[in-house]
Amino acid sequence: MKLSDLQFKSDYLALDDIFYHETKPTPLKAPFLIHANTDAADLIGLDHDELYSEAFLDFVNGGEIHPQSRPYAMCYAGHQFGFFVERLGDGRALNLGAVNGWNLQLKGSGQTRYSRDGDGRAVLRSSIREYLMSEAMHGLGIPTTRAMAIIGSESKIFREKWESGAIVLRMSPSWIRFGSFEYFYHAKKHAELEALADYTIQESFPDLIGDRDAYIKMFQRVVKDTAVMIAKWMGVGFNHGVMNTDNMSIASLTIDYGPYAFMDEFDANYICNHTDHHGRYSFNNQPQVGMWNLSMLMNALSPLVNIDAMKEILDQYNHHFYQAQINITREKLGLENAQEEDPALMGELFRVMQELHLDFTYFFRTLSHYAGDRTALMGLVQFKKPLQAWLDQYDARLKKEKRPSDERCKAMQKANPKYVLKNYMLQEAIEQAQKGDFSGVELLMRLAKAPFDEHPGCERYAKETPLKHKNLKLSCSS
Ligand code: AMP
Ligand code: MG
Repeated sequence: MKLSDLQFKSDYLALDDIFYHETKPTPLKAPFLIHANTDAADLIGLDHDELYSEAFLDFVNGGEIHPQSRPYAMCYAGHQFGFFVERLGDGRALNLGAVNGWNLQLKGSGQTRYSRDGDGRAVLRSSIREYLMSEAMHGLGIPTTRAMAIIGSESKIFREKWESGAIVLRMSPSWIRFGSFEYFYHAKKHAELEALADYTIQESFPDLIGDRDAYIKMFQRVVKDTAVMIAKWMGVGFNHGVMNTDNMSIASLTIDYGPYAFMDEFDANYICNHTDHHGRYSFNNQPQVGMWNLSMLMNALSPLVNIDAMKEILDQYNHHFYQAQINITREKLGLENAQEEDPALMGELFRVMQELHLDFTYFFRTLSHYAGDRTALMGLVQFKKPLQAWLDQYDARLKKEKRPSDERCKAMQKANPKYVLKNYMLQEAIEQAQKGDFSGVELLMRLAKAPFDEHPGCERYAKETPLKHKNLKLSCSS
């Protein structure tokens, strides 16, 4: 399909105008395409050729509004680092409408009613990070928003220094956040809260339309799916970094990529966000923060659903999380049948990984080639004893499996990525891009899309993170 033939639906605009603000993008100066994602174009049936047209560039830059599209910013609130902010909203994003169930959104397209003191912009650095990482999470099988294109420009944006402005065209089945519900709850606008719940059911839980218990069932799904999403993050060593309730998706997708990181060496207490002084959003706190955020959603839904019934559902959260985490770890370890001893074996492994500073991704990938010869694994550590002892336990456990080791290894290589986009890799691509060379973005996109494949020639990215780049922290400034 041609760009001009796309059909946009904007059901959200049928809601009261307190939900949004219709406004136009402010184009960047001298825009140019950095990268376009044909897989994302396929989701909306857009011809690949169109991605490289002047019209598409203008579309992403907001220079030319599609005749079918009525751009709008959404209003929401949220708990940021535990403190309630009564109005946030899309301060630098604009929704263009939905095509084929995908809500298209420009991020970095200028100020809106909800910009507060912000300039409505996104710098190249953070835009590259969001663009690549949403596709990388998708490649890893983790629920996430997607991204179709990234453009750069000659517009200058001030953060700690002058940087260039960029826009990402991102897309999601839903952009409703826990904070969207919190906005109407705290404003005591219960009719609007109900309208939002109905909209959400239509958008993300259509099988519940007409169900008498639709609201509580929606909450039940969000509780379970959020737990599973966070377990999936942790299965690849992902630390989101800013799990404020405005960054939590009602559709249980990973959204709003900021100072996130894939852990380099395993550290349960790792904090990727430089501004998170107390480690509220540290790696191991993620499950409990997920639960706290769900309790804020529960409060927000309390005018619509009996709170005691929701509390019972929320009580199941830990069970959902641990069950998902154990299943994921079992797959990572190539264990097909469940044994009582498995949680202890897993706990001991993470203890050993922490003690020996093992690189999360490289260790699991090396383990997924293990068939009795310990040379490669022992090459990863200086102090051998703890890993030898754990491998003794693992060997004993493998004896209870029926699958031959070559098959087990093959399956493990599908559960343990060879490539994740570590911060230092992104940083390299960003520094090249800042000099006008986008080959690093292109390369990382290839790895992002197929993280379990071998990718000959890229092995250096599959190894341990070089010492000077390990477990960096990034700031929120973006
Ligand atoms: P984030 O931390 O990116 O999820 O953003 C938190 C809130 O701040 C959201 O309401 C954003 O829309 C808003 N925001 C972040 N950066 C900017 C900016 N440069 N201009 C306007 N609003 C912004
Ligand atoms: Mg956000």
